[in-house]
Amino acid sequence: MVEQRHPSAVPRLRLAGTACWLAACSHTGFPKLWVPHPCRQPEFLWCFFFYIPDVNSFAARTNTCGELRAAHIGQEVTLCGWIQYQRQGLFLVLRDFQGLTQIIIPQDEAHSHVRKLLSNAPVESVVRVTGIVSSRPPGQENLKMPTGDIEVKVETAEVLNFCKKLPFEIKDFIKKSEALRMQYRYLDLRSSQLQHNLRLRSQVVMRMREYLCNHHGFVDVETPTLFKRTPGGAKEFLVPSREVGKFYSLPQSPQQFKQLLMIGGLDRYFQVARCYRDEGSRPDRQPEFTQIDIEMSFVDQAGIQRLIEGLLQYSWPEERGPITTPFPSMTYEEALADYGTDKPDTRFGMKIMDISDTLRRLDIGFVQNVLSYPHSTAKAICIPRGVVKGSTDMNIFFLLILPDGSLKSLLTKFLSEEQQSELIQALNMQVDDVVLLAAGDHKRCSALGSLRLESADLLEAAGMVLRDPAALHFLWVVDFPLFLPKEENPSELESAHHPFTAPHPSDTNLLYSDPTKVRSQHYDLVLNGSEIGGGSIRIHNAEQQRFVLEKVLKEDSEVLSHLLEALEFGAPPHGGIALGLDRLISLIVGSPSIRDVIAFPKSFRGRDLMGNAPDYVTPEELEPYHIHVSWPAAETEAKKN
Ligand code: ASP
Repeated sequence: MVEQRHPSAVPRLRLAGTACWLAACSHTGFPKLWVPHPCRQPEFLWCFFFYIPDVNSFAARTNTCGELRAAHIGQEVTLCGWIQYQRQGLFLVLRDFQGLTQIIIPQDEAHSHVRKLLSNAPVESVVRVTGIVSSRPPGQENLKMPTGDIEVKVETAEVLNFCKKLPFEIKDFIKKSEALRMQYRYLDLRSSQLQHNLRLRSQVVMRMREYLCNHHGFVDVETPTLFKRTPGGAKEFLVPSREVGKFYSLPQSPQQFKQLLMIGGLDRYFQVARCYRDEGSRPDRQPEFTQIDIEMSFVDQAGIQRLIEGLLQYSWPEERGPITTPFPSMTYEEALADYGTDKPDTRFGMKIMDISDTLRRLDIGFVQNVLSYPHSTAKAICIPRGVVKGSTDMNIFFLLILPDGSLKSLLTKFLSEEQQSELIQALNMQVDDVVLLAAGDHKRCSALGSLRLESADLLEAAGMVLRDPAALHFLWVVDFPLFLPKEENPSELESAHHPFTAPHPSDTNLLYSDPTKVRSQHYDLVLNGSEIGGGSIRIHNAEQQRFVLEKVLKEDSEVLSHLLEALEFGAPPHGGIALGLDRLISLIVGSPSIRDVIAFPKSFRGRDLMGNAPDYVTPEELEPYHIHVSWPAAETEAKKN
């Protein structure tokens, strides 16, 4: 029988019906984290606890500003916080990370010093007050405030720091420019939205750590951020070194290290990893970002998928409702054919239809001409009740079906009535529907995919509800091609994921005969049309890895000689994945930008507008790195000013 400690001996450990796996150890009676293990269960009594953190420990306060309730009435408390609002020395509202408390300033002579002090302190000054918790006079309770039943009558007060005139008011409804928010990020962080986002992010990460380390034996390993160039993939940031002409690279991901950890026998690795990509200014991308980076030995694609489903289910915040697993799966081919993208938003229909056969039967010269090219097809999307304006550089035809059932389109003059009704039938059009039709090489063409999304945005802006904001559509996209033609030179190949991805087991032979046809063991995780993760089973055979690098990708394999050699020393089969933490959290909190879930994000142009980075350095500082800047004339002028 388990001997359990008396609850008072474990302060702030609360009994609850939550799935936090804490069990009491029979030998020591000491609560510890435990991993479910069927054969050990008889020895342990399962208890369901969660810790309520002691947020007042070590601090010069007794309570937070969000904590006091009617049960505290009569107690003397000390609160610290920022003055959110104050009224003529009568009362003020004090704010901290947990909430707001109304502070009453007594008007009698004995408290004149306190009154003077507090009424002279501007908003956002930091104060400490000590006083007695009292009930609010009847009728003055504030039901909207968790502390709305009480107020604190100040006895003593201290202004810990005054606040000068603010660049913007710290109020949620005040609109301020993105640049100003970035310049004064520490003030923006005081907003309830950013406070919520960062705290939720921290909790999700904590639960992820619990799930990975405590439930499944993963090891949290930090890998270097000063490394060398990795061929293929994103552009990396360079860091000068003191060795002439030699540079470090900031890793775009810990890919090589996590594979080397598997070769080193770590078996299960994870890291909340900072990654760097020098991809210039792109909306909603950050030059540095965070991944939940994972690698496992002796695993297959299904194993990684189940792990991630379990991880997300375990760490998913209660406020966003439960998530259902397993997630549905779609092949890359299906995704492109039906949605025109490899990250389909499956929350709404409007799928792409292939109507090549119907159009081939109709005698429209220029359409026949387009369809005569190899790989050419005609595709369409039908927008229910939509008259849509879109923009694309493809030839898009609009077909609108009028209330009398006739077609309105540039194409109608080429079609007999019979042909028109054949087209209406093939497209399954209803009155007021609009069809967008595109003909050409659709192999990598995403025009209709983009138009589908643009149309959805326009319909929603016009009041139609297409995507339920609360809906969570997770989707695995699988069976990617291993290689894709390079955009800038289609006769050369590049990796669809990265050069370490293994071919699909049934396509391995094709790797040596026709690499363009090889499918890979690469999988992406998509949520509501955003890619939130991607990974693959890796090549663990040195010869195959060398072949891919040298013969298919035409890369200099010397750069990766350490990895190629490591693969020769008994590398286990392994695979992994990385989840984009910033994007995941922004989808959870429903924020349009990942900047709202990062404490100190960079601007659209990759600049830190608060600290003004990147910044100039002097020629003397550059000397140890053997670097000389050759200034364009205009820059020299700008620098002088
Ligand atoms: N390193 C990959 C990436 O950053 C993820 C993976 O393959 O595990 O996209």
